[in-house]
Amino acid sequence: MRRYRPAGPSRLTKDVPCTPCETSRELIGRASRLCCAPCLFLLRISHWNRCTSVLTNWVVMPTCLPLVRRRCHTCASERFRASGRFRVNAHHKLIDAWLLVLCTGCGETAKLTLLERTNVRSVRPELLARLHDNDPALTAELLRDPVVGHRNRIALDWGGAWRLDTGGPVDPDREVIDVSVRFAARIPVRPVRLIAEGCGLPRAEVERLVAEGKLVSAVRLNGRLSDDFTFTLKR
Ligand SMILES: [Zn+2]
Repeated sequence: MRRYRPAGPSRLTKDVPCTPCETSRELIGRASRLCCAPCLFLLRISHWNRCTSVLTNWVVMPTCLPLVRRRCHTCASERFRASGRFRVNAHHKLIDAWLLVLCTGCGETAKLTLLERTNVRSVRPELLARLHDNDPALTAELLRDPVVGHRNRIALDWGGAWRLDTGGPVDPDREVIDVSVRFAARIPVRPVRLIAEGCGLPRAEVERLVAEGKLVSAVRLNGRLSDDFTFTLKR
């Protein structure tokens, strides 16, 4: 994780430029020639307070189960919700297991394959018990499992199923904000949208800050991602 380690107030001279805000470098350099010592000291302190970067932690949290994108054969709907139930069929030593989902339009049941003609000995007893118990946590785990998604050729619709926890509003007086964003589940979102929400800015403003290089990250902020990332906002 990249973090700024700005110089302390005593090091903010024109010889040691301030790492976070390059624009103040000239001001501080000029001040060291123009100002008296107490004035310079105050300038350094106020600069230090505004400019020091503090790492803020945000978390993308699921609030409910995502919908399953899948075309219904009965109605025109393309979304299913998890029913919370599993079906397990055993035939001799072979076992099949499905997660049952319901069409949001007509209530039709569809099955997502979890196990297909699998030797019962190769299935963990703990998993079998959870399938038989219709364990709600197992539904959440399996929906997010990329293997299940790939096998059933489904994608998830996380719209309205997550929230951004910022731990409080961003300090408007800070010139540099470093934010670490962690995903509690692999929820694909656009960083520009998260940043707009977290900083209380219009999305167009966030896109302008990206274009101007004032909002920087190692990841592409305009794309979609679901992995942890950090960004820095310089104002
Ligand atoms: Zn339907």
